[in-house]
Amino acid sequence: MRKEIRFLILLGVMLLALGGMIMTQQKKGQREEVPYLSFIEMAKNGEVKHVVYSDEAMWQAALFDGREILTPNPRTENGKEMLLSLGIEVTERIQPEVATVLFALLFGMMMFGRRGNMSMERFDIVNGDRKVPEVTFRDVIVGKETLEGMRDVAHYLKDGAAYEKMGARPPRGVMLYGPPGTGKTLLARALAGETGKPFFAVSGSDFVEVYVGVGAGRIRSLFKKARKAGGGVIFIDEIDALGKKRDQGNEEREQTLNALLTEMSGFSGKDGVIVLAATNRLDTLDGALLREGRFDRHIEVGLPGREERLQILQVHSRKKPMDPQVSMENWAERTVLFSGAQLESLMNEAAIRAVRGGDALISERHMEQAFLAQTAGEEKKMTANRKEKHMIAVHEAGHALLTHLLLPQSRLTRLTILPSNKGAAGYSLAIHEDRVLYTRQELMHHMAVTLGGRAAEEVMFGKEQVTNGAGSDLKKAEALACEMAEWRMSDEEDGERAKRGLMEEAYAIAKQKIGENRQRLEGLSRALMERETLSGEEILHFVA
Ligand code: ADP
Ligand code: ZN
Repeated sequence: MRKEIRFLILLGVMLLALGGMIMTQQKKGQREEVPYLSFIEMAKNGEVKHVVYSDEAMWQAALFDGREILTPNPRTENGKEMLLSLGIEVTERIQPEVATVLFALLFGMMMFGRRGNMSMERFDIVNGDRKVPEVTFRDVIVGKETLEGMRDVAHYLKDGAAYEKMGARPPRGVMLYGPPGTGKTLLARALAGETGKPFFAVSGSDFVEVYVGVGAGRIRSLFKKARKAGGGVIFIDEIDALGKKRDQGNEEREQTLNALLTEMSGFSGKDGVIVLAATNRLDTLDGALLREGRFDRHIEVGLPGREERLQILQVHSRKKPMDPQVSMENWAERTVLFSGAQLESLMNEAAIRAVRGGDALISERHMEQAFLAQTAGEEKKMTANRKEKHMIAVHEAGHALLTHLLLPQSRLTRLTILPSNKGAAGYSLAIHEDRVLYTRQELMHHMAVTLGGRAAEEVMFGKEQVTNGAGSDLKKAEALACEMAEWRMSDEEDGERAKRGLMEEAYAIAKQKIGENRQRLEGLSRALMERETLSGEEILHFVA
């Protein structure tokens, strides 16, 4: 309890500081603003008496005629020397903002004793970001499934009461997972923008190293604010910092996490509050966090495919003067494995280079320079990547082709060569029938499909070139062979030999089928190389 009081006092001090800042801001408003060039003119004419030299955006100056003016701080290195050499009095001052914050910080440290780790950011967090963001789903380019998932959530957020009335269980928390820089934060902001709700953001890492009770208090106040605002989107970035798999003995983290879960279980559709969290990896999180009624909706935000990269490049060049010669299609092609953030940075770097060169348009050359800077030292890796990409494409196409040929009751829904969070590249199957009994032939075909990746590699590149990429395939096939041997589906008595015999039989089927349909395999793997991810329909187009 005492800690909370201390915290309140700290908050009070900070608010006072904020008040001070606003007042200086207002005082500034009464001064006349003078363009820098006019100011220099005045200085040279000996009209300037005194300058308050600071790090702020505007310098304050007093003129001999009694006027007080503001002029933009040119932020040159020898600004002070220039003023002095013109015979102007100069006093230096640290920014009042900095001064007040320093004061508050010092005060806070005193109050908290031992390890005061309060920073500006923390202060911001308590206040939250109350504005409704301007971004909407249109500004975020993600895969279809990701977007659909988010639209669902938006629908609930707009009309939670309807869900309540129907007795439908609303989504409690949404876990966005995917590599860094893929737009998870942006998506959360866009959800708020889309639904016209305010956005409240914190980062899990901000709760590390705080005092017991502080984190929990912050969480509670965050929810309170969101409710008071008539609903909102609460976003917790880097939730791993809070909800890592049982690292025991961290009382603070535990308390913060519990506060979060308690708050989450306490709200209903009427509140119009939704909690989103982001993590790079789902599997590092404590399972308790992902349970029903908690973060029970999981939305993958993966690396962009080629088409998405093109759109992201377009989004981030919308407001930039582009040389029409620049082919965005080409750049989308070349930026395999780039995240949205990296694409954004590529465009930004190119723009910076155009400014530096004094050019009016962003040209292919600027793009090239920016690209080289960003991928410096990765040239070798990229060549290797291209080769590997082809291998992976052939491998995955092999699985897909055999699924189509050997398992007519299953349907392929997605095929990708991009690494995903759910494991390496791969294919997603939808199996319609709920079956318990399988014939020997059907099981054989399953095994052949499992080995189809390796078989495709061998057929296309030769026995010497097969990769270790099929490691888990082999294990899966082996497990199935093991069971088949137990079910006496082999003529062999010896278990080990039975297993090997079954696998060889399946592999022979796989190789034969692929050999017979080599052209389809090539078509499919080429498309996969090009587009990286194919939908069920697109796959059918190539294999049927
Ligand atoms: P994450 O939260 O997944 O780490 P961010 O949302 O912070 O990624 O992305 C950082 C920036 O990169 C965004 O503000 C945006 O400018 C750009 N960006 C990232 N992903 C996308 C995307 N899918 N579409 C458009 N811009 C993106
Ligand atoms: Zn495989």
